Amino acid sequence: MSNLLVNTRDQQFVLFEQLGIEKLFENEKFADFSQEMVLMMQSEADKLAVNVLLPAYPDGDKEGCTFKDGKVSVPASFHEVFKKYVGAGWLCSTESPDVGGQGLPLVVRSACLESMFAANYPFLMYTGLTHGAAHLIQQHGTEEQKMKYMYNMYSGRWTGTMCLTEPGAGSDVGALKTTAQRLPDGTFNITGTKIFISCGDHDLTENIVHPVLARIEGDPPGTAGISIFLVPKYRVNNDRTLGEFNDVRTGNVEHKMGIKASATCTLNFGDEGKCIGELLGRERQGMRIMFLMMNASRLDVGMQSLGHATAAYEHAVQYAKDRIQGVPVWEMKNPDAKAVPIIQHPDIRRKLLWMKAHVEGIRAMIYFTWFCMDMATIASPEKEREKWQGLVELLTPICKAYASEKAQLICSYAIDIYGGYGYCSDYPVEQYFRDCKIASIYEGTNGIQSLDLVGRKLGQRKGGDVMNMFSEINSTIMKTKPIDDLKKHAAYLEEAYNALIDLTLHFAQLGKSGSFLMPILNATPYLEIFGNVIIGHFLMQAADIADEKLNAIYREKGVEDSKGKKRALVHEDRDVAFYSGKIASAKFFAVDVLSTVKAQCESVKFGERVPVEMADESFTY
Ligand SMILES: Cc1cc2nc3c(=O)[nH]c(=O)nc-3n(C[C@H](O)[C@H](O)[C@H](O)COP(=O)(O)OP(=O)(O)OC[C@H]3O[C@@H](n4cnc5c(N)ncnc54)[C@H](O)[C@@H]3O)c2cc1C
Repeated sequence: MSNLLVNTRDQQFVLFEQLGIEKLFENEKFADFSQEMVLMMQSEADKLAVNVLLPAYPDGDKEGCTFKDGKVSVPASFHEVFKKYVGAGWLCSTESPDVGGQGLPLVVRSACLESMFAANYPFLMYTGLTHGAAHLIQQHGTEEQKMKYMYNMYSGRWTGTMCLTEPGAGSDVGALKTTAQRLPDGTFNITGTKIFISCGDHDLTENIVHPVLARIEGDPPGTAGISIFLVPKYRVNNDRTLGEFNDVRTGNVEHKMGIKASATCTLNFGDEGKCIGELLGRERQGMRIMFLMMNASRLDVGMQSLGHATAAYEHAVQYAKDRIQGVPVWEMKNPDAKAVPIIQHPDIRRKLLWMKAHVEGIRAMIYFTWFCMDMATIASPEKEREKWQGLVELLTPICKAYASEKAQLICSYAIDIYGGYGYCSDYPVEQYFRDCKIASIYEGTNGIQSLDLVGRKLGQRKGGDVMNMFSEINSTIMKTKPIDDLKKHAAYLEEAYNALIDLTLHFAQLGKSGSFLMPILNATPYLEIFGNVIIGHFLMQAADIADEKLNAIYREKGVEDSKGKKRALVHEDRDVAFYSGKIASAKFFAVDVLSTVKAQCESVKFGERVPVEMADESFTY
C-alpha cells in the first residue's frame, strides 16, 4: 500500500475508520460525494503524484530557477506539470462548481494532495499560492475584482502570491514601509520593496496577481494601519485582457538551501511611480484579510511537512529492507553469521518506529484539523459551528510548528538510515531534508506560532477551544484505559494530559496576575508538549479502533485463544499487519514520548529565568 510517498492504507484508515468523514456526505453541501468516489480521487491523485510531479522533483532541485535580463524562468519540466495539474482540476478543487471547482471537502483534498506534497512540494507552491490569493478575492473582493482577477486565477491562466515581508519587516509585519498613495480614480499608487516572495515571478503564466500589504499615506503605524491591495504584474483591462506593464520589477531571486524550484523573489513596486493597486476589502483591514490566506497557508505548511516526512519514512523503510549490512545482534560472536538487511537491527527498528508513530500521528492531527474546517461550514446551530472553528484556530499553530519540527527530525533519521548514501544527492532523502527546513521559518516562524498559541489561542473564547480539545483527549483516555493490552500506555497519556492541564492552568494564573514572562519564555516547549499530547491522543484513539478490528479478525478466523496463531497471521494477513502496526505506534509513542511529558511540564513550571536574566555579553565571551 506504499508508493514510496505515502501509505494509502493509513490515509484511508484516518479518513474512514478514525474520523468517519462519511458524516460529511450526509450534508447537502457534500451530498455528491461517497467513500468510493473519494477512493477513486485519491487513486487519481496518487497517479498524478507518482507519474507527473515526482519525476520533476529532482529536476527542479538541480536546475532551480534562473534570473536573466530581469526575467525569471522555472525549471523546464514544470511547464508540463503545471498544465497537467491544472488540467486535472486540482487547483481549485475545493471551490464550488460555479467558480470552476468541484466542491471537494477540505479533508478529502488534504488526503488527495498528501502524495503530491510528498512528490514535489516546490511545484505545489505555485498552485497553492494561486488558490489562496484567488480565494482572498472571492471572500473580500468586489464583483468587478472577481470578474477581473479571480476566474483567471482559479482556471490557472494567471497565478498569485502573498506579499508581506520587507527587509525591515519580517516577523514584525506592522513595521512595513510600502506605501499606497490615493489616486483620483479610487486606485492607489504603490511604492515599496517586498522580499522573499515565493513564486513572485516566473514564466509559467502570462500574468501574476500580487496581494500586497501596504499603508495608505496618513494611516496609523503598526498593523492597525495596514491595508491590502491587488497589484497585477500586468494591468488588466475591464474585459480581462492584459494591459500595460504595471511597474512590478524583480530585483533578485534568492539562492537557497532547498525548494530551489520555487522562485523566491525580491519585488520592487513602483520604481518608476507607475505601479497601480486596487484596494481589497476595506481600508486598514489588511491584516485581518490577509490572515485568511495565512491561516490556510500555515496548514499547508503542516501538509508540506507531512509530505516530506511521509516520503522520507517510506523511502527509509524500503532502504532498510534492501540494504544488507552487519550480522544480527544475537549472532555477533558467530564468525559464520550471515549479514542481514539493516531493518533487523534494533537501533534501525527503533528509529523507524519513531518515524512511523510521528508520521501517523501528524497525519491524523492535520486531517482532523481540515475535517474541523469542513464541519465549521456545515454544523448547526451556530454554537456547534463555533466549536469546530475554534478547534481549527487552536490547532493551526500546532499543525504548522509541531509538524515542521518533527518532519526535520524524520528527514534527518531517514538520512541516518541510508548511512553515507543518504548524504549524497544520488538518493532522494537529502533533498527532503533540505526542502523541509524552510517549513519552520516561513508563514510565521515556529517561535511566532508558539507565541500565537500561548498568547492568543489559549485564552480564545474564554478558554473554550482548549477545553474542547481537552475533552476529545479525555474521551480517548476513558475509552482506552479499560483495554487490557493498552491500559499501561493509556496511563501515560492520562499522566501527560493531566500535566498539560496543570501547566495550562499555571499559565492562565500567571496571565491573570499580569506575569506574562514565563508563558512567553516557554511558549516553544509548551507547543511541543501540547503537540505531543495531541499526537498521543490520536495514536491511542487509532490503537483502540485497531484493537477492535483485530479482535474481530481473530474471532472470524477462530484464533482468539492462541497467541502463536495470532502472531503468525501478521505475516499472512495485510489487515492484521496494518492494525498491529497501529497499536505498535501508539504503544511506542506512549512509552518513548508521553512518559517524558510530566517532567517537561515540571521543568517549565520551575520558572527558571536565567535565559532572560543572563547578560547579552555572557552568551559568548
Ligand atoms: C524561501 C522563503 C519563502 C518565503 N516566502 C514568503 C512569501 O511568499 N511571502 C512573504 O511575505 N514572505 C515570505 N517569506 C518570508 C518569511 O515569512 C520570513 O522570513 C519570516 O516571517 C521571518 O522573518 P525574517 O526572516 O525577517 O526573520 P526575523 O523576523 O528577523 O526573525 C529572526 C528570528 O527572531 C525571532 N523573532 C522575531 N521577532 C520575535 C519576537 N517578537 N519574539 C520572539 N522571537 C522573535 C524569529 O522567530 C526568528 O527566529 C519567505 C521566506 C523564505 C526564506
